[in-house]
Amino acid sequence: MSFHWKVLLWMLAGVLCGLGLQYGTDGTAWSGASFEASPSGGLVVTQASGPAAKAGLSKGDVVGELVLLRGSEDEQRVALTSPEDFAAALGRSGVGDVVWAHRGATGSSGAAPAKPLAINLKLDPGSARATILAPFQFVADIFMALLKMLIVPLILTSIITGVAGVGAMKDLRRLGGKTFTYYIATSLLAVLLGQVLVTIMRPGVGASLGLSPLESGDVAPEASFIDVLKRMVPANIFESLSDNGSMLSVIFFALIFGAFITRAGSPHKQRMTEFFESAYAVMIKMAEGILALLPYGVFCLLIGVVAGTGFGVFKPLLLYMLTVLVALLLHACVTLPLILKFVGKVSPRRWFTAMSPALMTAFSTSSSSMTLPVTLDTVEKRGGASNKIASFTLPLGATINMDGTALYECIGVVFLAQYYQSTGQFELTLAMQATVVVMALLASIGAAGIPSAGLVMMLTILTTLGLPVEGAALILAVDRPLDMLRTVVNVWSDSCGAAVIASSEGELAPEGATAVG
Ligand code: ASP
Repeated sequence: MSFHWKVLLWMLAGVLCGLGLQYGTDGTAWSGASFEASPSGGLVVTQASGPAAKAGLSKGDVVGELVLLRGSEDEQRVALTSPEDFAAALGRSGVGDVVWAHRGATGSSGAAPAKPLAINLKLDPGSARATILAPFQFVADIFMALLKMLIVPLILTSIITGVAGVGAMKDLRRLGGKTFTYYIATSLLAVLLGQVLVTIMRPGVGASLGLSPLESGDVAPEASFIDVLKRMVPANIFESLSDNGSMLSVIFFALIFGAFITRAGSPHKQRMTEFFESAYAVMIKMAEGILALLPYGVFCLLIGVVAGTGFGVFKPLLLYMLTVLVALLLHACVTLPLILKFVGKVSPRRWFTAMSPALMTAFSTSSSSMTLPVTLDTVEKRGGASNKIASFTLPLGATINMDGTALYECIGVVFLAQYYQSTGQFELTLAMQATVVVMALLASIGAAGIPSAGLVMMLTILTTLGLPVEGAALILAVDRPLDMLRTVVNVWSDSCGAAVIASSEGELAPEGATAVG
């Protein structure tokens, strides 16, 4: 059975088991706090643990008012006068809902803090459902940690290998300039398209995803765009290497390290290039090994999500998937064909027909790297480009040019940021949006051409913005179909790049793509 089907089947199994648990076991919402009536009005906390303690509530605090929040549109205020009020409010909400507690007695002026405490209702840890879910949660946590473990070594080795390889071909410097310009320009167009669409379609606004509220101090201090650029240059690279949120600095270092490898005299240049090539090969094998566990990881994640929060969590996810889909379609069917036609002077329709074997391989492998041999063959034999152009642009494109991944990163991150923003815990400023654009671009450069690599990179952007990676687990659950589609767009963009460069070198006559065999 193909790996795709395996992932999709385990996904379905996770949803079904989750639904079974949701209806078949007891599992009520739990805030972790208990109260008694306070003489000054409101309720006084007698005990706080779990979510309530995490939100900052402690014994002796007085709570006067609760705000029940289910999505952004459905808000309800409850003044608390007796412990029963609290129990009733809890009874009306479900696991995953957020309850805001206003400290201070009702009506007492000035007592309430500026920011109320957000308590995320969890499954009652004593319930049968929570007990059954614990081992699945454990496996899901380990799986997420394994993915995070890949981030730094994969980015570092993939970029250094790519850049050192290019610089080595001295006579190809001119081609290199053109190729980089095409890659960066199309990826940037893709990210901007993603940014515009996610802002228009707003898949995350008011979504009820049941994610834990942000802990205070989680959110990265607001940085201006200039600050972000400044932070890109690491004062200590080893510090950056030990922090998944410092992807920018790692990419920056890798780019210049790769470039300077080509300047080092022999034997160092060759040794270093070979060393990083080997390290990259090992990292790719390791990533493949870890990603082979994907079906089981997805199963465990989905059981937890569906059994904990219910099926409703999929509605916003569908809108998110639709946003990615529309963006991919627009980029592949409008932006890239326009570039092909007006910059490359190649007929988009003919080039598309010629490229079909590579595109189908990309769809069925979810991997630009695995598709590379087919892409090379297709671009040369069916497209009519020379071996020189194809073998220079395509291998580089398979690792650094990922338009589909670029727009997907942007939409995924903004989707989660919109969710946190609509629960009032996060502010997606203009500076942050600019940061997301730059990071999505770099993430697409840093992502390896293997299945789900884009998702691994998204973890680093979330960490940089101070958003919990827990949200990425939800996105991971529905990632497979999107991965297949964005890989097609990645490979399509690589092949369009080869066409544009080939025609700029006078290789493809305007009808050059007619060489379809
Ligand atoms: N699977 C994609 C590729 O190989 C990368 C990604 O996960 O976005 O092109």
